Amino acid sequence: MPDCKPSIIGLHKTEISRILENCGQPKYRADQVIDWIYQKRVTSFAEMSNLPQALRETLEDQFSFVNMENVSVNGSKDTTQKFLFRLNDGRYVETVLIPANPALYSEQSDRRTACVSSQVGCAFGCKFCASGLAGFTRNLTVDEIVGQLLLVEKVSGEKINNIVFMGMGEPLANLNNLTASLDVITAEWGIGIGARKITVSTSGLAPQVEKLAEKQQQIRLAISLHGATDEVRDKIMPVNSKWNIDSLFNSLRVWNQKKKQKITFEYILIKDVNDSLEQANILGKRAAGLNAKVNLIPYNTVEGLDWERPSEEHCKKFRNLVSKAGVTTTLRLEKGHDINAACGQLRLKQETEEGIIQAPVKIRK
Ligand code: SF4
Repeated sequence: MPDCKPSIIGLHKTEISRILENCGQPKYRADQVIDWIYQKRVTSFAEMSNLPQALRETLEDQFSFVNMENVSVNGSKDTTQKFLFRLNDGRYVETVLIPANPALYSEQSDRRTACVSSQVGCAFGCKFCASGLAGFTRNLTVDEIVGQLLLVEKVSGEKINNIVFMGMGEPLANLNNLTASLDVITAEWGIGIGARKITVSTSGLAPQVEKLAEKQQQIRLAISLHGATDEVRDKIMPVNSKWNIDSLFNSLRVWNQKKKQKITFEYILIKDVNDSLEQANILGKRAAGLNAKVNLIPYNTVEGLDWERPSEEHCKKFRNLVSKAGVTTTLRLEKGHDINAACGQLRLKQETEEGIIQAPVKIRK
């Protein structure tokens, strides 16, 4: 039977304090409970040995801990590891742990990045992405977002020091839970990862970008652009029919006014779809106009989809044109680090095998 109690994970410190005060506890109790959760990483109230027995039992009756379990880990310790987690309601999410890559991150060799999911499935249906193939199921709760980090660290034995919200789902379509999670993740009392080490990626939800910009934390923003003109973007990203490039860029200008970090444009290069040299020129100009960086990712094949990756030579030509506009441009040629396109595949396979969802329809160009 799934545990239907709400989780204590992901609750803000003020909320935990309020709960304990309502139980007639002294003020310092909240610090003790939080210390057990986020520093000592216990997984039951019974382990909180400096709490009175009666309080442990009361909390045990009312709350659970991480509401998910690890089903499988793919990859070795030295390479990208993909975790498949089963949630309380039997649905699945994927979280990825990406180790340092000296070629990409020479400045910091101990970098451990977690690629976190924000929803089960996705409603935005980008045509190159496995996560959107079977549609949207539900938002992840705050404890399920924060819980991914705790569980990855527990299973892998690694300490995460970077986070990208680029897993399954559109983070800005789950804005309230995303921002509540960020409060816990960045808090000294919580997971304690600095806002500057966190990147939120969106397919282009313009109004939500402006809302997120109001948050004081200096988190980073990445835009899954994947097309430099409406014509190309319309073909592969249905979100563009709602917020086209002009409206998205207006929001990005608002972001730039409020934040110090450069925006990053993520651009998956798909052969004969968005990889023309004309797109490269336009992308370069657009990125330069916003003082943004560009991250080019040659497409990785997704089962069920027909797209192909361009040749390495063509990718380099594309990169050179973008950087000619004075834009910092990276081209990721390593397959193991290409996490975006393949995200959602494991969950799709698992839920299809269990009959939770129908086998997704194959999408063609
Ligand atoms: S790329 Fe992101 S927004 Fe688009 S379908 Fe995939 S998960 Fe959703």
